[in-house]
Parts: sequence; C-alpha cells; structure tokens
Amino acid sequence: MKVSILPVTAFQQNCSILVDEASCRAAVVDPGGEVDAILEALRQSGAELEKILITHGHVDHCGCAGELRRRTGVPVEGPHEEDRFWIEQLAESGMRLGMGALEPFTPDRWLEDGDSVRFGRLILEVRHCPGHTPGHVIFYSKNDHLAMVGDVLFQGSIGRTDLPRGDHGALIRSITTRLWPLGNEVVFIPGHGPVSTIGEERQSNPYVCDRALARLA
Ligand SMILES: [Zn+2]
Ligand SMILES: [Zn+2]
Repeated sequence: MKVSILPVTAFQQNCSILVDEASCRAAVVDPGGEVDAILEALRQSGAELEKILITHGHVDHCGCAGELRRRTGVPVEGPHEEDRFWIEQLAESGMRLGMGALEPFTPDRWLEDGDSVRFGRLILEVRHCPGHTPGHVIFYSKNDHLAMVGDVLFQGSIGRTDLPRGDHGALIRSITTRLWPLGNEVVFIPGHGPVSTIGEERQSNPYVCDRALARLA
C-alpha cells in the first residue's frame, strides 16, 4: 500500500490517500476539505477511488465527504454511529468555522469495533476508539503495520475531550486497550501533525507514556 498525506483546511488535517498498487484502487481517509486538491492527488496517483473512509464526525475530518461522494460516486464508510450527531451538524459547524457551505451527507455504512473495510485487494481493520468523540474509529493495515488514528493520539499529545460527549477516561482506555496492542513498531498517521510510532508514544508521550500511566494507577 502506498500512502500520501495531504494536509487540508485551516486545521491542517491529515487527509490520507491510500493506494493499493496491485489493483490501482484507492481510498481516501478523512476528506476534511479542499476537494479539488484531493481529486488532483488521486489523479496524480493514477489510481481509481473506491472508498471514502471517515474516522470521526468532526468537520475538519469529513467536511467535504458529501461533495467527494457526489463527484466520484463512491461510498462513505465510517465512523461509528455514535458520531451521527456530529455529522448532522456538519453544515452549521462549517459555517461557524468559516469553511463555507458544506454538503450534508449520511455515511453509506456505519462501522463497529472489529469490522473491516476493503478497497482493491486490501483490508483495513476497524477499531472503535471513543473518547475524543463517542463514535471515533481508527483504520489499521496489518500488512503495512500502519494505522490511521484521527484525533485519538498525536505525536506527543492526545485528542481533546472538552467538546460535546468527549470523555477523557474513555480516550485513555481506547489508547491503551485498542492502540497499544497493535505493537510498538506500528506507525500511525494522526489527524494533525507528524507521524509517529506506538513505541515512541509509549516511551515519551507525556499524557499516555507507560511511566505517566503507572503514576495514575
Ligand atoms: Zn476531531
Ligand atoms: Zn481534527
């Protein structure tokens, strides 16, 4: 799988373009905005878009999912249905944050923990990781040792939990029970900022490194 990261919107959200080189099929994870730039990156990849995948319902992650679906005709999968309330307020959020008129959408498929999503000949595993939002999911490629984790975990930080239905305890549990077991060598692409590895965060992330959590226990 070939991966390119395209930071989009004023929030510099990491939209990921995943390409299965064997079948020349692609998936886009978290098209927050700048649909023309996303379509241009797809054109340059030479691959045909097959799926739009969403980690959670925040507007910087799914702001142009509706427009991208309309213009390409491919289905939207994710997040978990607990984020329906966020997706339903997409247009208002977009206006409030100066992102203009966004096209409302409803995902073609809501995801559950343990589901998998497919594009080309590839399979991504789905883990439900509530806390930042109640319906947040992450996508994991076992073959590539790579996870797209949205706003669950960042290099040196974790997702904010002060927004509606955020839950700090749930977020910490999601990180320790759903991300750590993927293994230290796994590389993750966060929703914002640089990529990192699970091992690096367990070592040095001030919020969730092993030493910080041992102090809380
Ligand atoms: Zn978010
Ligand atoms: Zn975000």
